Amino acid sequence: MLCDRCNRSQATVFSTAVFYHGEHPGDCTSRQRNLCLVCADSEDQDPASKMAAALEAGCYYCGKKGVLVCSPCAAELRRINEEKGYSLPKGRPTREEMRHIAKIREEVAEHMKKWVAEGGPDQPGR
Ligand SMILES: [Zn+2]
Ligand SMILES: [Zn+2]
Repeated sequence: MLCDRCNRSQATVFSTAVFYHGEHPGDCTSRQRNLCLVCADSEDQDPASKMAAALEAGCYYCGKKGVLVCSPCAAELRRINEEKGYSLPKGRPTREEMRHIAKIREEVAEHMKKWVAEGGPDQPGR
């Protein structure tokens, strides 16, 4: 069997990847991946380079460099999540819970945008 990626070498690494494509837990497909050693190796490095790119892009909310989410933003995020009662249900969420979570996430994202626009992370005492 040939490698899925390069189609040249013999595949020696087999794994099953699960893809989610939708908000419902049932909306996922699994796909068998057959890779040669070289491709499996470079695939493994992907998360690291993604991480580096994310760090380069800076704070998800305010754009501060070198972090995924800077600490003032993280603190505010924690606070607003608590205020909204955001928590992930244990186990598999029901359709109702998924809707609820999606709504809160939207509200939180909205709040963070506004908060950053108002100079949130730069306020003294944070
Ligand atoms: Zn390959
Ligand atoms: Zn930030």
